[in-house]
Amino acid sequence: MLSLCSNVYNALSDFLQPRPPGVSDVSAPNGETKNSQEHRIEEAESELTARDNPTGTPAQHPKQEESEDLREKEQTPQKLRLILVGKTGSGKSATGNSILGREVFESKLSTRPVTKTFQRGSRTWAGKELEVIDTPDILSPWLLQEVEGEGSWEAISSSGPHVVLLVIELGRFTKEDQLVVRRLQEVFGMGVLAHTVLLFTRKEDLDGNSLDEYVQETDNRELAQLDVICSRRHCGFSNRAKGSEQEAQLEELMLKIEGVLWETQGHPYSHKAD
Ligand code: GDP
Ligand code: MG
Repeated sequence: MLSLCSNVYNALSDFLQPRPPGVSDVSAPNGETKNSQEHRIEEAESELTARDNPTGTPAQHPKQEESEDLREKEQTPQKLRLILVGKTGSGKSATGNSILGREVFESKLSTRPVTKTFQRGSRTWAGKELEVIDTPDILSPWLLQEVEGEGSWEAISSSGPHVVLLVIELGRFTKEDQLVVRRLQEVFGMGVLAHTVLLFTRKEDLDGNSLDEYVQETDNRELAQLDVICSRRHCGFSNRAKGSEQEAQLEELMLKIEGVLWETQGHPYSHKAD
């Protein structure tokens, strides 16, 4: 058990450490002290340990119970900036289109990155304005030097997104996705995971089974840890869905987004606050 705990702690610390030399941002998430970040690691550690020990006390998921009350609390700003991030082909552009309810971003199957610039689209939803920002491959920043872009990662990170949607293809959380998480922390700062929702595309592959169960039972350790660090804020999208099914999945996403806004008092993410 001791070695399991230390493995989990090391793996979590690994997630929370910036990688390359020159990225000096080692401070705690937005509004947290370093101690509270350590506390968060301990919480994640004990939650994962409890999951691995079914005879022990089951892990608590207070976020799920909170979601009912979130609509009551007026933490939601009128205009929400949502940023789509993920590896090439994970379904960022298709997800942006599903959120917007129309085809704004080019989305297609390709071995090469299709989205080469930052692009925006917006819509109103329940009286709020949603601004959705689609992004090029975060692992290939050189792309931006080749083409005329509408922005840069620096500009996007300092624009103060309220929520980052980390787009992951269901069933394929790979080393590349882990690199995306690290790169995200380098570009946006270590606190960014406090503003992050995991968005799994190809939800239809679940064949009606529960996404919660899928994530909780995954034997992909890195994915399980990321989910815990993101306070189990995850949701599924089928970007093939239309009409009421498309609206229902957006509604579910908005509940997770309200969870972030509730925890962050509706403040946009600020690199400086790290
Ligand atoms: P991006 O590179 O992350 O922007 O990925 P794209 O949005 O261009 O999507 C890559 C491919 O995956 C496209 O062929 C999409 O149609 C497909 N795709 C994205 N989301 C889904 C989904 O939820 N279900 C299915 N079946 N295909 C999807
Ligand atoms: Mg794209």
